[in-house]
Amino acid sequence: MKICIIGTGYVGLVAGAGLADFGNDVVCYDKDTQKIEFLINGGVPIYEIGLSDIMKRNIVKGRLTFSANLRSAVSESRVIFLAVGTPEGNNGEPDLSDMFEISDSLGKLISEYKVIAIKSTVPVGTHLLVRQRILAKANAPFDVVSNPEFLREGSAVQDFLLPNRIILGVPSTAAAEIMREVYRGLYLNETPMVMTDNITAELIKYSANCFLATKISFINEIARVCDHFGADVVTVAKAIGMDGRIGPKFLHPSPGYGGSCLVKDVAGLISIASKAGLELEIPKAVQKVNNGQRELVITKIKALLGEIRGKRLAVLGLSFKSSTDDIRNSPSLHVVERLLSEGGRVTGYDPASMDNFKKHFPDIEYTKNPYEACRNADIAIFMTEWNEFRELDLMALRKIMRGDALLDPRNIYLPELARKAGFRYAGFGRN
Ligand code: NAD
Repeated sequence: MKICIIGTGYVGLVAGAGLADFGNDVVCYDKDTQKIEFLINGGVPIYEIGLSDIMKRNIVKGRLTFSANLRSAVSESRVIFLAVGTPEGNNGEPDLSDMFEISDSLGKLISEYKVIAIKSTVPVGTHLLVRQRILAKANAPFDVVSNPEFLREGSAVQDFLLPNRIILGVPSTAAAEIMREVYRGLYLNETPMVMTDNITAELIKYSANCFLATKISFINEIARVCDHFGADVVTVAKAIGMDGRIGPKFLHPSPGYGGSCLVKDVAGLISIASKAGLELEIPKAVQKVNNGQRELVITKIKALLGEIRGKRLAVLGLSFKSSTDDIRNSPSLHVVERLLSEGGRVTGYDPASMDNFKKHFPDIEYTKNPYEACRNADIAIFMTEWNEFRELDLMALRKIMRGDALLDPRNIYLPELARKAGFRYAGFGRN
């Protein structure tokens, strides 16, 4: 199948490489011409495990190409995936301007039957708006399919190649047949495919992300209860996760969820529902608890150090989670902002996201490794759970620091080991 991907970001690039790996001919287009040039010259613009390999493999076979020419990319393709950004806009509502801009451009370019597959996360009913905009200018029939994406940054390639399920909101049997062909590699693999209508497909994505966010906020609230009563949240989470109805995943206390999806999708669902006259209580509470987690980091730092003013604080982990260079809505952004505003001196380290973080905080000190970040620091704060942090020599770290405080919002370390190394240790829900 000949496929065009519009929007070559985290989702578009991984989907493009993955669909090529399934045997399709894929051309990726982006309005960011510098990005396309970089890709044509063999560059990989994002950090994602396995992405470079799968791209190379398919570029060599001639199944994955990049183009800055929308007209030719569209005309040579049967299926056009839309993977442009849908960031949080006013009042939590998703900003669909990129989606609408590309729909307007597409209309003019459709002169034979095409399937337009929306991969971006979009509010319920967006497929109709996209359809109307294309229809206004199109010279041939087309179908709009809703095919939301569930990959996770950090394991995006594996998630795309081995998904739990494929959701296809299809308006016609012709479109359903074509989408089955696109995902033939997975179909043969017996990956479950949920064929449904567009509206249901759009709502599945929001419901899934909201539910995941709910699990995170729930365990974060339980961690606060554990802190209060002296219980161990790690054991609580493990034990409740053994119940098949609950499951063990997404039950890890943290400084709150971040990234480009959960924050905006919870806000999006609240706002879409509210516009329709439905006030959603659970997502609102999830949001409130999540915002509180970032502030809890500051409260715990103060409990360990007293005042922040004049202190040297090593922030380890700047991306919103491990294995990604993405800092969108990262709790570290909030924490660093607060520490600086209270007169702290911040040193930052992250294995992959320092260049992105520097765009927001050019003036803090960045180091080549976690030990250097902690040199003469009063406190080490482990904001993300990179494997590199799990392997640190805590005794050596303690010796390099001038203070003895270690804050571990993701509970990477065993409290007794940290204490044995000479630290005053605080985790989340396991003091
Ligand atoms: P991104 O910001 O990384 O990439 C979006 C790309 O679209 C950018 O390269 C941008 O230049 C391009 N673009 C914008 N307008 C364009 C236009 N008119 N024509 C061509 N290109 C255009 O975004 P992302 O993280 O890949 O997310 C894309 C969508 O997928 C969002 O709706 C998001 O919610 C959803 N999603 C993201 C993830 C994730 O983990 N990042 C997972 C599942 C779903």
